[in-house]
Amino acid sequence: MDLIERIDRWSQLAPDRVAHISGDQLLNYRELISRSNALAAHLTQTLPNDHSPVAVLGHKEPEMLIGFLGAVKSGHPYIPLDTSLPSQRVETIIETAKASLLLTPEKIQSLIKEKNASKVEIRRPALENAWYIIFTSGSTGEPKGVVITRGCLESFVDWILGEQNFAEAKETFLNQAPFSFDLSVMDLYSSLASGGTLFSLTKDQISEPKLLYQTLAESNVSVWVSTPSFARLCLAEPTFNEKMIPTARKFWFCGETLAPEVASGLLNRFPKAEVWNTYGPTEATVATTSIRIDQDVLARYNPLPVGRAKPDSEVKILVDGNPAPVGERGEIVIAGKNVSIGYIHRPDLTSRAFYEVNGMRAYRTGDAGHYQDGFLFFDGRMDFQIKLHGYRIEIGDVEANLQALTIVQDAVVIPAMKNGQADHLAAFVILKARPSGSDFQITRGLKRELSERLPDYMIPRKFIFLEGFPMTTNGKADRRKLAEMLQ
Ligand code: AMP
Repeated sequence: MDLIERIDRWSQLAPDRVAHISGDQLLNYRELISRSNALAAHLTQTLPNDHSPVAVLGHKEPEMLIGFLGAVKSGHPYIPLDTSLPSQRVETIIETAKASLLLTPEKIQSLIKEKNASKVEIRRPALENAWYIIFTSGSTGEPKGVVITRGCLESFVDWILGEQNFAEAKETFLNQAPFSFDLSVMDLYSSLASGGTLFSLTKDQISEPKLLYQTLAESNVSVWVSTPSFARLCLAEPTFNEKMIPTARKFWFCGETLAPEVASGLLNRFPKAEVWNTYGPTEATVATTSIRIDQDVLARYNPLPVGRAKPDSEVKILVDGNPAPVGERGEIVIAGKNVSIGYIHRPDLTSRAFYEVNGMRAYRTGDAGHYQDGFLFFDGRMDFQIKLHGYRIEIGDVEANLQALTIVQDAVVIPAMKNGQADHLAAFVILKARPSGSDFQITRGLKRELSERLPDYMIPRKFIFLEGFPMTTNGKADRRKLAEMLQ
């Protein structure tokens, strides 16, 4: 059974089961399948059969799922875009990907109303065809689109369904991440493939604490999928425990370091639940390694391991291209069916990061790591990529966009650290000519301009104006000295 068949069968087996909840909007499997078929019928008739991507721009509306499946069933990969992205970045993504269409929830609604899908020809994507394309921060200021094929996604889904043993047509999965972030692939396809209910949190629900905890209390979530940062935020609320969510039986993390205190806090507050840590970049389809974090693992390791590789993938530690001796630190390289075919329309970037090894696709992650006791440990980044509250950010991307502003001569961005993790971004800026107004007013102006180019989470919180940067001996801005200025 391929992934489309796996999902579609729920419209026969459990047509009335709720597939998606977002606020007060419910979508059952009958509706999801018939509406995505109707959309696929429309796209099949109106778009060329050329595998060009279809961008789907929205937030957590049910039409997002209809849009994703509708695009795939018409032979087109989708690009999930969240409304939090500024329009300029959306335009750059659409141009870079040469997307043939931009769908929004309203547009999807009107297209499926017009369409009778009784005779839909489903253009099943071949294993090597793209299923989705997720854009991540690129170091030059241009986002890059990671192409995930059906083969990649099925390799991931087969693994997690086998490992996690979800009860079919019984689970409710928490969807915290926006669909433009590949963490959401973990909850979305675990849920759809196992006949689960995907429970989406909207940004309004997340930003209002009282509403958030009330929503969680009513969610019936059994499988919690989020960044560790989000779980940490929830743990700050004393009533966040098994009384609030009695159904919770698994906390499943990916995307950034899982701190021991977050894992132990959850095990204490939810004694019947399991906690899992998984690791992987978007380029290797969400996650490649996993480990259950129980009291024994917590007692033994700090920092926590990120686990073992899924059975059909290899995760190696390389130093100068050669395997590192066990225990030694090197670059984490992932090989296997879950590794992307590359960045869309960027053969230059693709050939730098991807290669073939023993007939398998391999990806240099830029992450440092080592093995101990058979477990992989993540030792931080080897470059200027960071994770800020779960979001992947290339510092160079923020800098390039800041440097492009008219009054900015030069800019260096530094992550300000708290408890060993990035807490916010600070920008050191040299202005071309100082406009009138206080630092506060200039900062406000720069933030406003940046918000037209970058999503909110990439906008530095602090701005420090300098006449010049301290320099290293080889003439680069001395990032260490700048970081010291933040302490
Ligand atoms: P993304 O492509 O947004 O999922 O970001 C991938 C990057 O997040 C990886 O290359 C790592 O740097 C980091 N990452 C993912 N999972 C973990 C984890 N479990 N622990 C530490 N860092 C992680």
